Amino acid sequence: MSKAKFVEVREKWKIRPSVLGILKSMKAVAEYNFHSRPTTLYPFEKNKLPEAFRGLLGYDIEKCIGCGACVLACPNNCLYRRPGPKTEKNKPGIYIAFEPTHCLFCGLCVEACPPVSGALRHTHAISFVTTKKKVLWDPWEWAAMTKLIDEMGWEFDAIDYDRVEHLVKQKAEEIKKALEENATGAKK
Ligand code: SF4
Ligand code: SF4
Repeated sequence: MSKAKFVEVREKWKIRPSVLGILKSMKAVAEYNFHSRPTTLYPFEKNKLPEAFRGLLGYDIEKCIGCGACVLACPNNCLYRRPGPKTEKNKPGIYIAFEPTHCLFCGLCVEACPPVSGALRHTHAISFVTTKKKVLWDPWEWAAMTKLIDEMGWEFDAIDYDRVEHLVKQKAEEIKKALEENATGAKK
């Protein structure tokens, strides 16, 4: 805007510089500079999530006691019992397979999981994408996916499952082997 035009607009709308207005602007700038930022530098900084946040379901297999309460609680039949090594923690040797493509993220299974176990939780991952029509994780794959989400810091973005499936399968083998080594009577 030219100076002449600026003067014309100022005269037309009777705009007068106000000391109070200038001070208010300076205060706003100072507040912005010295107070904490309202945003985060994601993905370098992690966002603080509300306590009630319900992300992709996570399974800490070492904590599972094989009670099956989660299977009964699921309204969409996406949890299944699977046999596995009997350990000190999991005496019946029952573990849980998960069909994430059918999960409602309702959290009823997390509530049903006994506090003595605490094997189920919501991770910070929002979702995943895949070209497969159906995904069914056996207990070891589900536990592997959960560990990878934590270790790799996958959160908020949709995980490209087709690209990470080989990592999940590889980690699942390690988890299964470790459980078999911990099986009751196996270390003799
Ligand atoms: S979050 Fe809900 S739908 Fe998903 S597995 Fe748990 S109970 Fe089933
Ligand atoms: S995940 Fe929890 S509720 Fe489900 S079988 Fe294991 S201990 Fe029981």
